[in-house]
Amino acid sequence: MDLKNYVTTIENYPKEGILFRDITPLMADGEAFRYATQQIVDYADELDVDVIVGPEARGFIVGCPVAYELGIGFVPIRKPGKLPREVATVEYDLEYGTDTLTVHKDDIKPGQRVLIIDDLLATGGTVKATIDLVEKLGGVVVGCAFLIELADLDGKAKLEGYPYKTLMTY
Ligand code: IMP
Repeated sequence: MDLKNYVTTIENYPKEGILFRDITPLMADGEAFRYATQQIVDYADELDVDVIVGPEARGFIVGCPVAYELGIGFVPIRKPGKLPREVATVEYDLEYGTDTLTVHKDDIKPGQRVLIIDDLLATGGTVKATIDLVEKLGGVVVGCAFLIELADLDGKAKLEGYPYKTLMTY
């Protein structure tokens, strides 16, 4: 199945000059969504994963069905102020300014083997911050998986030393 048939491209969204890859048609198609999920499940099967970790919001959508299928847990990574219990925090650089991500401190146990899942790898800032959070809590990042990689933005440079899989490259 060619998953690119289920991704639409929107010019100048959310800002002038940006080509936005929209995965909502893929999610809305039962067969394509299941196929994409199964590709990541197959990847996870090789890695002996204990828990899936995904950043909000599309990381939840892609990561949760994989966790369900594997019969393991899912841990959400969220923007500040969204998680009710004690959190670990990481700050990371954006093109202009910084952003912060948080995770519940007791959601990841030391030594747990973690697969990070998000919809899309662009500059790699989000996944690198997520890796830092997992490692802060003693988790072991055994891999990362994305539906889409935007090759021009060189996110893979930030993933040096970490195996990852992408289902589509633009
Ligand atoms: P990065 O941190 O620059 O790698 O950006 C990746 C994050 O931004 C992911 O969590 C994506 O959901 C979001 N993102 C960036 N560009 C796009 C896009 O074209 N389509 C959908 N999400 C995007």
